[in-house]
Amino acid sequence: MTIAATIQQIEDQLPDHTKLIAVTKTKPVALLQQAYDAGCRRFGENKVQEMVEKQPLLPADVEWHQIGHLQTNKVKYIAPFVSLIHSVDSLKLLQEINKQAARHQRVIDCLLQIHIAQEETKFGFDEAEAEALLNGPELAPLSNIRIVGLMGLATNTDDEAQIRREFQSLRQLYNRLSSVQRPNVAFTELSMGMSGDYLIAIEEGSTMVRVGSAIFGARN
Ligand SMILES: *Cc1c(COP(=O)(O)O)cnc(C)c1O
Repeated sequence: MTIAATIQQIEDQLPDHTKLIAVTKTKPVALLQQAYDAGCRRFGENKVQEMVEKQPLLPADVEWHQIGHLQTNKVKYIAPFVSLIHSVDSLKLLQEINKQAARHQRVIDCLLQIHIAQEETKFGFDEAEAEALLNGPELAPLSNIRIVGLMGLATNTDDEAQIRREFQSLRQLYNRLSSVQRPNVAFTELSMGMSGDYLIAIEEGSTMVRVGSAIFGARN
């Protein structure tokens, strides 16, 4: 199938409240342009350098989503244009995003990455840490960021029941934390689901699926 046909097929599966983030890491700009021509306006990258190289080569109405682990010393490179940072996994990172956003007189939308998988290696807050951050005093001075929801990666497994349980637990946390009322907290987005599990994620209430290989083919 062509990229355009695959994107259309995925779009047809998404409920109205769920957006497709086309994950374009490692893929050449020509393929991003094909996805753009097929109507795609949201691209997800996990490496800062790659996003910074591609961004000027695509039309200006593309939304760039940082989905992978972000080092504090690299925030400055994406701060001028990034649309949403899905992978905020520490207060230190959030403070740096705030500082760089202020330099560009922007408010940068962020998601807290929550550790829901069984793998030890995945980044993210646990539930108690996320709740403490959202209710804690450290957030008060950060007027150039806005926390708009949560992101999580399910365990890489064939056990669909386990994946579903992990997405359900993230959805429950999202629902609970949605009641937090602060000037820089406004939950609207729950980023969960990738090529292998986005259909489960949709059923469990995802508002953003991050799909790469199902559209662009396997990465080397
Ligand atoms: C690579 C990546 C994806 C997309 O993975 P696919 O299996 O290719 O769809 C989604 N989310 C994150 C955080 C990723 O790093």
